[in-house]
Amino acid sequence: MSETLDQYGVIGHPVAHSWSPLIHGMFARQTGQALDYRLHDVPPERFREYVLDFAARGGRGLNVTVPHKVAAAELASELTGRARRAGAVNTLMLDAERILGDNTDGAGLVRDLCSNLGLTIAQRRILIAGAGGAARGVMAPLLALNPLEIVIAARVAERARALAADFSEPDGAVRGCAFEESGGGRFDLVINATSASLHGEVPPVAESAVDAATLCYDMAYSRTDTPFVRWALARGCQRAVQGWGMLVEQAAESFHIWRGVRPDTGPVLALLAGGHPASTAS
Ligand code: NDP
Repeated sequence: MSETLDQYGVIGHPVAHSWSPLIHGMFARQTGQALDYRLHDVPPERFREYVLDFAARGGRGLNVTVPHKVAAAELASELTGRARRAGAVNTLMLDAERILGDNTDGAGLVRDLCSNLGLTIAQRRILIAGAGGAARGVMAPLLALNPLEIVIAARVAERARALAADFSEPDGAVRGCAFEESGGGRFDLVINATSASLHGEVPPVAESAVDAATLCYDMAYSRTDTPFVRWALARGCQRAVQGWGMLVEQAAESFHIWRGVRPDTGPVLALLAGGHPASTAS
């Protein structure tokens, strides 16, 4: 490990495809922060020992990705409120006294939706497809903005119901169900929080859920339109967006936690996705 620069990185398995070194390298240059950010490909059985060793050698912070997010929450000596509610950690801050676990995914999504895309969440109807880790991570930040309703739809209805129950509101604004039970008109925002796009698939969202004014947001990202973005555009949706903005904004939030400065995400997003990665129907 270099003795001169503060050490950061992303830990996952596999992790070679990660954009995080490029993103954090740009943030560091832009803000004049001297740091080193690397890939750490570590299998689950070595995760704990690896992080403890990285910290013991002076490592300052790690982004955590698949499949280690829950293990990172278990390893942390302290969790932020949002990491506790998400049940998962995507950012570790390391120092001599503690291992602090945080989760910046939800904040990243909300910043992309509200600041970059200009969406208002208050009093809007939101459909979340999928009930995995990413869906859980965005629930609290979305609810904090007072949507009218959040419906979580999943292949296994029980998973969606369990997730909804963990975030239940007194006014019943959160509901979990199977995809075929999610009907009941259009939604203002449909978020694909499934990993379907990674397999070239589209989750079975009801066609009636989207119209021209619905913002369709795929958490997955790709250099070409994802299957969910193509699906939304084919149904007349005017704005269908990939998760590049969420990726860059969650990284900026981690960078801020580590270094105390907030980078400008605009140039990074422009480089990764050629401006904002919104596909619009023509
Ligand atoms: P998980 O593995 O925790 O959850 C994936 C979910 O997708 C599961 O609930 C699974 O359902 C569901 N699913 C998979 N395939 C299908 C399908 N064909 N139809 C319907 N449901 C399906 O993954 P994560 O929650 O961690 O990640 C979800 C997505 O979000 C990924 O694409 C990931 O890349 C992306 N992501 C993007 C981020 C960003 O910064 N842009 C940050 C974090 C995640 P079941 O339970 O039935 O198997």
